[in-house]
Amino acid sequence: MDTVLNLGLNFETRKGLAELTKNPRFAADSFRRFIQMFGNVVMEIEHEKFEKVLKGIKDKHGRKLDTDLETAELDEVITGYLELVKKEKGEFPLDPKVQLRMAIDAVFGSWNNARAVTYRRLNDIRGLIGTAVNVQMMVFGNTGNESGTGVGFTRDPSTGEKGAYGEYLLNAQGEDVVAGIRTPHPIKVMEQELPETYKELMAVFQKLENHFKDMQDIEFTVENKKLFMLQTRNGKRTAFAAIRVAREMVQEGLIDKEEAIMRIDANSVAQVLFPQLDPKEKELHKVLTKGLPASPGAAIGKLAFTAEEVVERVKAGEKNIILAREETSPDDIEGMDRAKGIVTARGGMTSHAAVVARGMGKCCVSGAGELHIDAAKRQITIGGKVLGPNDYVTLDGAKGEIFEGQIKVVDATVSEDFQTILTWANEFKRLGVRANAETPRDAKQGHLFGAEGIGLARTEHMFFQGDRIRNIREMILATTTEGREAALAKLLPHQRGDFKELLAVNEGLPVNIRLLDPPLHEFLPTTAADIKVMAEDMKITEEKVKQLCDKMHETNPMLGFRGVRLGVVYPEISKMQVRAIFEAAAENVKAKSDFKFGGIEVMIPVLAHEKEMSFMRELCVTQIETVLKENKLTKERVPYTVGVMMELPRACLRAEQIAKDAEFFSFGTNDLTQTTLGYSRDDAGKFIPIYLEKNIYEKDPFQCVDQDGVGELIRLAVERGRKGRPGLKCGICGEHGGEPSSIEFCHKTGLNYVSCSPFRVPTARIAAAQAAIKEKRSK
Ligand code: PEP
Ligand code: MG
Repeated sequence: MDTVLNLGLNFETRKGLAELTKNPRFAADSFRRFIQMFGNVVMEIEHEKFEKVLKGIKDKHGRKLDTDLETAELDEVITGYLELVKKEKGEFPLDPKVQLRMAIDAVFGSWNNARAVTYRRLNDIRGLIGTAVNVQMMVFGNTGNESGTGVGFTRDPSTGEKGAYGEYLLNAQGEDVVAGIRTPHPIKVMEQELPETYKELMAVFQKLENHFKDMQDIEFTVENKKLFMLQTRNGKRTAFAAIRVAREMVQEGLIDKEEAIMRIDANSVAQVLFPQLDPKEKELHKVLTKGLPASPGAAIGKLAFTAEEVVERVKAGEKNIILAREETSPDDIEGMDRAKGIVTARGGMTSHAAVVARGMGKCCVSGAGELHIDAAKRQITIGGKVLGPNDYVTLDGAKGEIFEGQIKVVDATVSEDFQTILTWANEFKRLGVRANAETPRDAKQGHLFGAEGIGLARTEHMFFQGDRIRNIREMILATTTEGREAALAKLLPHQRGDFKELLAVNEGLPVNIRLLDPPLHEFLPTTAADIKVMAEDMKITEEKVKQLCDKMHETNPMLGFRGVRLGVVYPEISKMQVRAIFEAAAENVKAKSDFKFGGIEVMIPVLAHEKEMSFMRELCVTQIETVLKENKLTKERVPYTVGVMMELPRACLRAEQIAKDAEFFSFGTNDLTQTTLGYSRDDAGKFIPIYLEKNIYEKDPFQCVDQDGVGELIRLAVERGRKGRPGLKCGICGEHGGEPSSIEFCHKTGLNYVSCSPFRVPTARIAAAQAAIKEKRSK
């Protein structure tokens, strides 16, 4: 929301203020500040235009800083400002009552300015009617060198380290600190400059933190050595800091474990798992320049020089853009959101850029003073080097370093603090958390983050590597069962090898493997070169290959020949996959006689009808038993279940009957959302944003389970399914399985586990614990 400081000043009251304080310079400085702020906020004249006037007068008198200007020179600024206002919008109002009225209207109106609307959207703030306006007496930080103003945190908002942290400026008003107009001093410096006041401030910091039992973000002003507190609130912090603060506050006895978990924003913890710059590669690059480590992480991208430019270029399809600004202001919020990282030449650790970037979890280097950023020419210059909109830079937000070019990034590790919080989460959560993974690498990543097994291995992902695609194409294009079986026989060893590894890295844990899901035509050759290869492989003409491909064409493949339908029409495909899975199990036993299985779950996708389930159950169990017997193994040694992926409304409705043959349900909420709402998951991106804007949905139903519609089907399916098979195991493996509000829904609905991509596993563990704690607290 907008603020207007120094309100009430005009030529007369300014004289009074000067007499009262015996400080004419201060009165002049306050008056010029007022015209500038009122002119900008209320009269909507660009900030830059005022800056230009100010700079012109500073240059004329050879003054570097605003504080160097003398009273007479400030009077020139006042005259210049008033002329500017007159030219842009007409006479500046000098009657304090008129000023007050206009300022109040402006602040009310600021509720609906673009940046406030964007802020609410980004932070998911809804259902409020507007802002209040607070009219309050001023205290002045600009009366001289025994006054000042600052922003402080009771702990470092970037790292979470305990101890007062922040910045202040002598002889300044709050705007100077947050707007990054002058680079402020660390709060520690105040200990020398105003020792008494500093002591007092530190005592207040401690008192506020003890009272609120959370890290505080505090604004203060000193007027002639007297300390005034302007505001305190729980401080925004990076996920790193949130984790460290939560853990340390438990150790300090300020809060308990339960509270520590509730304090963490489950969504934002993914930030700490973000890749960092490869330390080895970093050494090979020279640091271009250094700024302040305003917000951690790594960011690589091409330079853009205004927030609008970022928005446009991202809309046009560019992915990696770094926003470089002299300083940012609240109007830049949309561009900051779209950028991969942010660099500013001015401004400290509590400047707008730094605070907002930290809140967004976005890498930011602020106050890189050696950078000369020229937005008009769209270039930055640094020591003779010039970089433009097509040049890449790399940022290390944790170090405040800027590099030219692109540097490789490496995976992050889980810190000890984070590990501790996650261990605490396990003490509270009831839901299991698994990972969606089909490669050993992803599976291991999942374990590192605490996944308790695999909730979905999409086998088709294994079909694209190396030669396999040729074998699968041959299988699809085969015109006879024999032809298909011959091609499947070539695929079998590949699949077996993949499953062997997948089972091996998940020893002792449940592994859910889904049979082939996508429509076959997705695998078909499309390029001339690929068609030629197929013709050679199959010893037929290229023309014939094309004909066979055309025959596979589907108007609506997502609702076409896919999932269980492939298994019903071509049972040999499912049989090959099941054989591969259980031969892989046998190979693991051969390699290690005491190999432990946590349960192999064979999952049938996109199923609608209970008879599809009985058909597939019969097929799978017969094949599994055959393979186990061939390998002298039993179900006791290799425990398995056959179950279903719940992705269609009919399956939910017929859950009781389906559960007679299905030993588990796993809700594929991507497809279940698509089929319940009738929105194509691939095309909904075109209209969902408009639906969100118009409040038809509060949240994208492909990200957060639509609890009233899709959720109702899930509730019903769980209830009916457990009627058909008491104790039926139920999970979720759609994208929603890693989203906190959906996880809470799964908890309430009585699912047994959620499964999500490996990097969301920590989020899911925290969200699952929070759901359990909330339930406990509501009782
Ligand atoms: C689903 O539909 O929710 C699912 C997990 O399967 P896929 O995304 O592979 O269709
Ligand atoms: Mg699906």
